[in-house]
Amino acid sequence: MHQNGYIFHFQQAAKAAYLTLRKELTDMNILIFGPNGSGKGTQGAVVQKKYGVPHIETGVIFRVNIKNGTELGQKAKGFIDRGELVPDAITVPMILNRLREADCKNGWLLDGFPRNLAQAEALGKALQDAGMKLDYVIEIVLDREIAKKRIMGRRLCATDNNHPNNIFIDAIKPAEKEGKPVCRVCGCDKLTARADDQDEAAIDKRHGIYYDTKTGTLAAANYFRTRVKILEVDGTPGVKEVSQALLAKLA
Ligand code: AMP
Repeated sequence: MHQNGYIFHFQQAAKAAYLTLRKELTDMNILIFGPNGSGKGTQGAVVQKKYGVPHIETGVIFRVNIKNGTELGQKAKGFIDRGELVPDAITVPMILNRLREADCKNGWLLDGFPRNLAQAEALGKALQDAGMKLDYVIEIVLDREIAKKRIMGRRLCATDNNHPNNIFIDAIKPAEKEGKPVCRVCGCDKLTARADDQDEAAIDKRHGIYYDTKTGTLAAANYFRTRVKILEVDGTPGVKEVSQALLAKLA
């Protein structure tokens, strides 16, 4: 073979190896579970970054639809406002159709679905029918009382949304200036609580669904426990420690 032919051959082989490796790296189907207040959204973003797969968040899809006034949004709004699940007849086809979109061909990270046993069974069947595997099921484990305190103690800094303050978490407790709480990062005195973070009844309802091991979200996680090893991560420490523990388990 001519020398150029060798080079061409080598280049083709390298390209094929690279594509195989890339597929191995990105072809990841992942579920992430965690109660409201566990930092699941933040940790989901870390996992998304590691694998470069689309981060599909059921709650975000609903909120975008509500904001845009779509038919789906109008149907979902009342349930969401009451802290109830949107009916499976709406949610299940919405998510299964989303997983069939082109950007999910090389993997996906599903966050906020399944939320009950019926959704887990529907997803399990859809994956089986499509011949698709699940690579990881992640569970951020957090005590119910701690999760509730985290939500109710959250304070938003008016200067920057990314300045974490929580009156119940020592590590990120607001600072004090002249007897008034101020942002621990920038010192501004405009700290507010999100109205939905203070709705104790809605929080209890959401947690009631999450921690229900018979038909709720933990039942959905357990449904997959028999099929895939669940990676459990303790959600009690700070965001960075949880991310590190999670990434170490995914490595
Ligand atoms: P989240 O942002 O994940 O807390 O979701 C906000 C709200 O959207 C929930 O309280 C539910 O009302 C609704 N929702 C999110 N995911 C689901 C799901 N898998 N099934 C039904 N409703 C859901």
